[in-house]
Amino acid sequence: MSLTSLIISGFKSFADKTELTFDKGVTGIVGPNGSGKSNITEAVRWAMGEQSAKGLRGEHMPDVIFAGTQLRPAMNLALVTLKFDNQDRALKKDADQIEITRKIFRDGTSEFYINQKSCRLKDIVSLFLDSGIGRSSFSIISQGQVEEIFNSRPEDRRTIIEETAGIHQYKIQKETTLKK
Ligand code: ATP
Ligand code: MG
Repeated sequence: MSLTSLIISGFKSFADKTELTFDKGVTGIVGPNGSGKSNITEAVRWAMGEQSAKGLRGEHMPDVIFAGTQLRPAMNLALVTLKFDNQDRALKKDADQIEITRKIFRDGTSEFYINQKSCRLKDIVSLFLDSGIGRSSFSIISQGQVEEIFNSRPEDRRTIIEETAGIHQYKIQKETTLKK
């Protein structure tokens, strides 16, 4: 499975509809400070179901919508689409191409879509469960998180490694079962 395309419109500094396509291999995104590199990774995390506005450097979720500049008025809608090549079926849906979209309006209402069909946030989150990617997996390491990992207690670091290896869910299931 791989991310092949990212479409951003009205999200943070990306007022105009922008499409980034990713070839096989490693893609580097470079640019001066404040040019929007972090906004790109935040768009990816947001589309995959990020629910914390603070985790996206905002106060409230509608803060992700383009807030306007001296030359350009604020917008009322942010939209992010991610396209995945799923020929290996790493994502739990029987389709070669998977496209997910998240929209948010100024009043805070949100919409989610999988392959153009309206769905719930829960459906997006469960699509990525155990895939190694997702809104809170360690496939996206933000600024500051590296230090957090280095400075964490050994027990917490173990949790990080277990999550990355995909075995953390079994531990949670085991604990739930033992409690019953
Ligand atoms: P650095 O190299 O410092 O990490 P960066 O390339 O990661 O920089 P970002 O943090 O992605 O830059 O982008 C910050 C820019 O995005 C700022 O100029 C900020 O004003 C702009 N920005 C953030 N949220 C919004 C918003 N809702 N509307 C308009 N612009 C926004
Ligand atoms: Mg940055």
